[in-house]
Amino acid sequence: ALTIGIVGLPNVGKSTLFNALTRNQVLAANYPFATIEPNVGVVNLPDPRLAKLAEIFGSQKLLPAPVSFVDIAGIVKGASEGEGLGNKFLANIREAEAIAQVVRVFDDPDVIHVDGKVDPRSDMETINTELILADLQTIENAIPRIEKEVKIKKRDAAELAAIKAAQVVLERGDTIFSSIKSDKLEMGHLKELGLLTAKPFIYVFNADEGILGDTAKQDELRAMVAPADAVFLDAKLESDLVELDEEEAREMLEMNGQSESGLDQLARVGFHTLGLQTYLTAGPKETRAWTIRQGDTAPQAAGVIHSDFQRGFIKAEVVSFDDLIDAGSMAEAKSRGKVRIEGKEYVMADGDVVEFRFNV
Ligand code: GDP
Repeated sequence: ALTIGIVGLPNVGKSTLFNALTRNQVLAANYPFATIEPNVGVVNLPDPRLAKLAEIFGSQKLLPAPVSFVDIAGIVKGASEGEGLGNKFLANIREAEAIAQVVRVFDDPDVIHVDGKVDPRSDMETINTELILADLQTIENAIPRIEKEVKIKKRDAAELAAIKAAQVVLERGDTIFSSIKSDKLEMGHLKELGLLTAKPFIYVFNADEGILGDTAKQDELRAMVAPADAVFLDAKLESDLVELDEEEAREMLEMNGQSESGLDQLARVGFHTLGLQTYLTAGPKETRAWTIRQGDTAPQAAGVIHSDFQRGFIKAEVVSFDDLIDAGSMAEAKSRGKVRIEGKEYVMADGDVVEFRFNV
């Protein structure tokens, strides 16, 4: 599932953020048939293209692409000692496609910190250490089997080498995700292990006004977590924002010197981190954004609408968003030769406006 798991120490604002995500009710209204789990919160990917397309097609409804977040119980320091991270916890994390770690940077004497002081670097280390120890355990369990398979030539020695390289990274206290480039890790060989720290990471800094207005401080924190992406938001403010209508919410954001809500930012960064993109469909009923992976082909994109569309795929009529907007109508885009007929091999581009032809 394309969900992002939310982790973090106790009392850093996970529940507050998650409440904002679940009370963000746009989805329930837009997707009446979607089953929404109690531990899943959803936020729409902001996409100004939808309104423009809807104007051209006279669409009644706009359906942006949803990004899902799953609430995963808090990690407590030392969880990996003794029993280790709970099985339920591990299973939830394994299912998530990416990990969003909530880190407290807000100052509030009324909110107790589990370690007695606000120290983002140490908090991130605590969480990451638990995940790293879980991964080391996974690798140590796997190595004897893999060594055996290499010996009997059932497996390439390069695979074992890749796993041992990952072990070195973890043993020095780094996550796999943060070391992919620097250590030239062969991710293909690591896939089968399902390592937790190989998932893309996002750091969500739960900040107060001071930090939201302090770009130097933000840059410092950003540098600390690079190459992972960072989002700065005020979870308390976010949970207030979702109670307001659009206009009021915009005013409140402006008052706080922000142009976009933290949840919107989180959706955009999450989408980017997951390597996703959208294509668009439009008609009088609705204009809708569909989520696909970068590099997906036209039949794969069709499959997101319905598996029958993928199976019976014949061709796709494709026009880029910009060309369509320039032309002002589908008919004009056609007469300008901007509407292409694409086949099975076509690799989708972000913002393609598409109509599929298929056999049922
Ligand atoms: P969790 O244990 O990580 O789920 O943390 P909670 O969401 O329960 O938050 C712990 C406490 O911190 C609660 O009293 C929240 O009201 C408070 N809190 C959460 N986010 C913020 C924030 O951005 N600023 C301030 N001042 N307090 C916050």
